Amino acid sequence: MLENKMELKFLAKSENESFARVTVAAFASQLDPTLEEIEDVKMAVSEAVTNSIIHGYENKGGIVTIVSSIKDRELTIEVIDEGIGIENIEKAMEPLYTSRPDLERSGMGFTVMESFMNNVKVESEKGKGTRIRMKKKFDIVESD
Ligand code: ATP
Ligand code: MG
Repeated sequence: MLENKMELKFLAKSENESFARVTVAAFASQLDPTLEEIEDVKMAVSEAVTNSIIHGYENKGGIVTIVSSIKDRELTIEVIDEGIGIENIEKAMEPLYTSRPDLERSGMGFTVMESFMNNVKVESEKGKGTRIRMKKKFDIVESD
């Protein structure tokens, strides 16, 4: 059973990156997360949204959609763009791989998402766009 869900759409501008991460963190706050859990979620959202803006849409704008849902103590976040897509997903997810060394990217975005979330799945089609689906299980809150 789906317990809660939200959807957010915004222009692919770097000014909206902090808006996106704070909004998802606010949605996740109903899980009574620890500060660390909230920081993890913010980091992962930030990396995925930045990728859509600079890689997916190549800084030329477009719409980024975030769909997030909560079921029991698990948060699911999808970051979706209709940008250029990823040709080789496996290679893109390797630590230190970047297609844009010219922009001084370090190729660590996917590695960050995978280390802060329990599960990261990438669906992408060249010329169509990219969907990142991330899941995080939150700790059980101890009652006093
Ligand atoms: P960093 O995140 O450290 O600044 P980066 O963005 O290049 O560097 P990753 O976030 O790990 O590193 O992404 C790796 C590569 O995957 C990118 O260089 C890009 O080629 C590709 N990529 C990631 N997200 C997208 C996307 N939404 N659309 C198209 N290509 C993407
Ligand atoms: Mg990145």
